[in-house]
Amino acid sequence: MRTLEFRRPFRVSRSVATETRVVDVEIRHEGVSGFGEATPSRRYGVSAEETLEWAESSAGLLGDDPFALEDIGFRLTDAGRPTVVRAALDAALHDLCGKLVGLPVWRLLGLPSAGPPTSWSIGIGDPDEMARQAAEAISRFRCLKIKLGARDGLDVERVRAVRRVTDCPLRVDVNEYWTLDEALDHLPRLADLGVEYCEQPLKAGDPDAVDLRRKSPVPIYLDEECLTPADVARSAERAHGINVKLEECGGIREAIGMVRTARALGLRTMLGCNAASALGIAPEAHIAGLFDHVDLDGNLLIADDPWRGVDFVDGHQLPSRRPGLGVEPEAA
Ligand SMILES: [Mg+2]
Repeated sequence: MRTLEFRRPFRVSRSVATETRVVDVEIRHEGVSGFGEATPSRRYGVSAEETLEWAESSAGLLGDDPFALEDIGFRLTDAGRPTVVRAALDAALHDLCGKLVGLPVWRLLGLPSAGPPTSWSIGIGDPDEMARQAAEAISRFRCLKIKLGARDGLDVERVRAVRRVTDCPLRVDVNEYWTLDEALDHLPRLADLGVEYCEQPLKAGDPDAVDLRRKSPVPIYLDEECLTPADVARSAERAHGINVKLEECGGIREAIGMVRTARALGLRTMLGCNAASALGIAPEAHIAGLFDHVDLDGNLLIADDPWRGVDFVDGHQLPSRRPGLGVEPEAA
């Protein structure tokens, strides 16, 4: 378990964060080690201490064949392991399998090595401060995600202030803090400002989502209410897209299942993340090629990353070409 400090405090609708606690896992097989990182989030009620306990008590469920990914996944699910723990173990197993066969994970999965460029997230602040941060970020990033939901009547002004300093694609994320009336007022104005899509405007499960999907001029993506493969089908009448996060769905195999189901239902997809080290972001970087949009800035928020192996190149978060996840300790 370790604490990762942020470069600067980050504010979203429900909280301000200055650091995050993560749990790194290691799975050994025939002298080879696979690594993964769990990034527990308070929103889903699993602490770092519980994550560590669940991870340690999972060793006996892994068996002796790291390639038996489907069976291991079923065993962990049946034993009630939270998705954040399953995702870390799944990442470590993919790292291990890739190392054992000498292939990077993206290649092992038959995916392209690169996905769409990542957005950079701008936390909630006063509109001028957010515009200043946007102006600073656009030399490095090709698109921006603006956090909204401050409940102070300034959300549209925040986007307008950022739009004044850049023409780049803008997405917004409300993290459940608008009502239907606010959403119907704000979204047409955000459409005029060229906002590409809006993440989770209403509270997870809000019955008004069906109405908002029909009326919104901006595509709606669900995040907090679409966590696992079982949530995808009902998302089709409530939104235009979903945000997939490995720590909430349970890992790479579950994420691929969500993307396939989403596509069959006509939903667009984005890949999201929590704040994490390069080890925590690596599994996402390896599957980014599956998604329409990518929001993988979680390791770029961290001040002193203990791991390296995800390359930020021309706005893209590129996975390593080395076997497995291709991540190693920064000191190595
Ligand atoms: Mg979100």
